[in-house]
Amino acid sequence: SGRLTGKHALITAAGAGIGRATALAFAQAGAKVCATDIDGEALDSLAAEHASIATSKLDVTRPDDIKALVQASGPFDVLFNCAGFVHAGTILDTDDASWRRSFTINVDSMFHLCKAVLPDMLERGKGSIINMSSVASSIKGVPNRFAYGATKAAVIGLTRSIASDFVARGVRCNAICPGTVKTPSLGDRVRALGGDEAANWQRFIERQPMGRLGEPEEIAALALYLASDESAFTTGTVHVVDGGWSN
Ligand code: NAD
Repeated sequence: SGRLTGKHALITAAGAGIGRATALAFAQAGAKVCATDIDGEALDSLAAEHASIATSKLDVTRPDDIKALVQASGPFDVLFNCAGFVHAGTILDTDDASWRRSFTINVDSMFHLCKAVLPDMLERGKGSIINMSSVASSIKGVPNRFAYGATKAAVIGLTRSIASDFVARGVRCNAICPGTVKTPSLGDRVRALGGDEAANWQRFIERQPMGRLGEPEEIAALALYLASDESAFTTGTVHVVDGGWSN
């Protein structure tokens, strides 16, 4: 049987990029997956790829919808908080609304999702929560990622606190910190820079010591490990997967 056989996993932002690759990896490993996103069409095409993937529209900025989904579709053994938003700029480019939006999508969402799944996990004495942080966080200062870096550092604090509170009750909580990964939203950010698109891609690639970007599947492999019982001795940890960027 598979590495996740018998597990029920909830994933946010599963429509594209790392979340989508993870939904597929979890399903292929035998999990029953509840894949959520705001993009209904992306969810439909994902559901068509694997019979063990059920989908629900979920905007992670809506706490009542989060509660309703967990009540209707839980209990969950695994929660992968993948949704995140990248605001570009220094502190001087960041207005109140961008700062607030960054925290609402990247941090408040995890507060509400963790809080929603934890009671069932504690009652059953098992669970694995995986939170998407980034190397751009408390690990590394990255230019023009002021609000983003602050939120992803907060994700690490939130993760370690939850891990610490429930370490003796069967619930684990770990963070994943990718470097630059080739996903649809990265394409948007490259295009938003304007000018020569090929040259802009080259700039992203040049800051990679390995000479290439990461693939979503390479992050999904780590999420799969953290979701599985192979990582049963691992909690409150920060897992860097960045092609050597922060080294
Ligand atoms: P992506 O941006 O390519 O896809 C994001 C998905 O999120 C889309 O399907 C979109 O519809 C969905 N989404 C957007 N707002 C949402 C909301 N409010 N509620 C639910 N879903 C929503 O994804 P990605 O680049 O794989 O990023 C996923 C996570 O990984 C993010 O938290 C991001 O910060 C983090 N991350 C990405 C990289 C990278 O280089 N791509 C690096 C480090 C960390």
